Amino acid sequence: MSVLVLNAGSSSLKFQVIDTDTEASLHSGVFEELGVSPDSMSIDAAITAALESLPAGLNVTAVGHRVVHGGEQFVDPTMLQEDVLTQLDGLFFLAPLHNPANLAGIRAAMHALPEIPHVAVFDTAFHHTLPPAASTLALPEELRRQRGIRKYGFHGTSHRYVSGVASDLLGGDPHTHRVITLHLGNGSSATAIRGGQSMDTSMSFTPTAGLVMGTRPGDVDPAVVTFLLEHGGYSAAEIHAVLNSDSGLKGLTGSSDFREITRRARSGDEDAVLAMDIWSWRIRHYIGAYAALLGGLDALVFTGGIGENSAEGRALSVLGLEFMGVSIDSYLNSRPNSKTRTISPSSSPVSVFVIPTQEELEIARQTAALVSSPR
Ligand code: ADP
Repeated sequence: MSVLVLNAGSSSLKFQVIDTDTEASLHSGVFEELGVSPDSMSIDAAITAALESLPAGLNVTAVGHRVVHGGEQFVDPTMLQEDVLTQLDGLFFLAPLHNPANLAGIRAAMHALPEIPHVAVFDTAFHHTLPPAASTLALPEELRRQRGIRKYGFHGTSHRYVSGVASDLLGGDPHTHRVITLHLGNGSSATAIRGGQSMDTSMSFTPTAGLVMGTRPGDVDPAVVTFLLEHGGYSAAEIHAVLNSDSGLKGLTGSSDFREITRRARSGDEDAVLAMDIWSWRIRHYIGAYAALLGGLDALVFTGGIGENSAEGRALSVLGLEFMGVSIDSYLNSRPNSKTRTISPSSSPVSVFVIPTQEELEIARQTAALVSSPR
């Protein structure tokens, strides 16, 4: 099956065609700066251009769409029909930055390719196995039950994919595997996985929680928000902008680019050194917490732009964790390599893997599985 995977973001469209029998990528591309000014490309025009860019003779048999938020109802890949689109419209309030863009892409693609099945694959879905102790926020009943305020978790497609690869590498009975996956990119999250099931994850009701990210702070005392509203002269929109666009590494250094921050830290820039300390301190905090929740650890996985590429970022993330069996071999860690690899010493009780994430492949697999045997 040739599956066209579409990831329609707020200002970009990424697309890739994957042969799900061989898992080869047959074609891919990206359109950026969509809808940012009156004369920039619309999502409909980008979908048309993406389809026109397909090599002659490449027939797409299904489309897999990345959708950020599935709420409580969508915990599996879902065949897209009008009633599902209406339900997804109802979830906009949960992911106002992402879901509307995802939906616009879905509608445009269904219009352009009406004859073939379209499937939604949700970023939240992998985390539907969180136990109530992890997913329930300690808030009054009204907020929990009527407003849907709970931990959902994100990056699920990536955490699912890399934990599957890690399980294959560990060998033995996958039901017993205890794995922590670290997806470290502009957005970052950590997930605790037992037997292939997500048990806890660091993003929560929104992708703002958890690790320190490019422009988001991760965990902060929630009372900072009310303080800013009451005493800081901030509006809700301004607080939203602070928490999503101006915090994290950018708030600490002026730049959200980990490569640049690493360069500055090497040359002694104190803000950059402190930012990397704060960033990795939070990661170690989550590794320790999740190993405790899992009752031990078999593998630690690095993925995402920083996790896959930054030897310094990985080394800082495991600093001082030898006591719990986590260590990396500095030669294996720093050797340039873009493939899946083990970077822990061979004698190490915990395997540390670098696994390039393949969210598009995971979406294509799930799309093909649903199309071949619809539920
Ligand atoms: P997104 O969450 O937008 O998909 P990515 O996963 O592409 O982001 O990660 C982007 C981050 O990865 C940036 O901070 C970038 O500086 C960092 N990064 C990419 N390549 C390297 C590298 N070779 N060394 C260090 N950091 C890198």
